[in-house]
Amino acid sequence: MDWYYADGKRKVGPISKEELKLLVKSKKINMATLVWRQGMKDWEELGKIAKQKESSAQQLQKTAAAGQAVCSECGRTFPEEEMISFENAKVCAGCKPVFIQKIKEGMSVAGVMEYAGFWIRFGAIFIDGIILWAVQMVVYAVFGIITAAAIPSIPGESSNPSFFIIGQVIITLLSFVISAAYDIWFVGRFGATPGKMACKIKIVTPDGGKVNYSRALGRYFAKWISSMILGIGFLMAAFDDEKRTLHDRICETRVIRK
Ligand SMILES: [Zn+2]
Repeated sequence: MDWYYADGKRKVGPISKEELKLLVKSKKINMATLVWRQGMKDWEELGKIAKQKESSAQQLQKTAAAGQAVCSECGRTFPEEEMISFENAKVCAGCKPVFIQKIKEGMSVAGVMEYAGFWIRFGAIFIDGIILWAVQMVVYAVFGIITAAAIPSIPGESSNPSFFIIGQVIITLLSFVISAAYDIWFVGRFGATPGKMACKIKIVTPDGGKVNYSRALGRYFAKWISSMILGIGFLMAAFDDEKRTLHDRICETRVIRK
């Protein structure tokens, strides 16, 4: 959620919560600074909001002790057994239909999914790149040994250029098949490539569900589009409110932290 703050009569923002904290730390703003974010009726002093948050956190602890929980939709307290749980969120019976609708529409539900940002995803791709490189090196080595054995060792015959070209074509195809199979199989099966698993992130549908093989296949090819436009498709994750890349948008997927 993005915040705005008042600098004299000027409205500054939007900035993230972290940036807001940094401004306080660097004494650019203080607890008397008026702040606002979407959903708030009026501008309020930062100090007031911090206090409210503190007291609501205390309230939360109290209700949890009494077997009650706060509905993530309406914010009212109900006995826990009357509510449905969805990952970290609890929703009361009254809000349930609206909540289910939200999930169906693929809207982000507060406190349910944490989208994985650009750099962690970049890290995952980097790890996958190293793994694929290693696998391909082994395949090339085996391929090289086989072709060396297959080519007759008569001088002049082995330097036939058609051998070289056929070899190149086969190697290119192999490398394509290996990288496609790696991506599609791991994503279809586990929702994450080994690189993503190592970074503790995974690919999900908008409602947080598992992606199937056909979506994994579609996403693999959609990634080509993302890389064809100078990688801008990947870069889009850095600026999207749900950290979606172009291929995430095309295939209706999200990448979240586990
Ligand atoms: Zn409710």
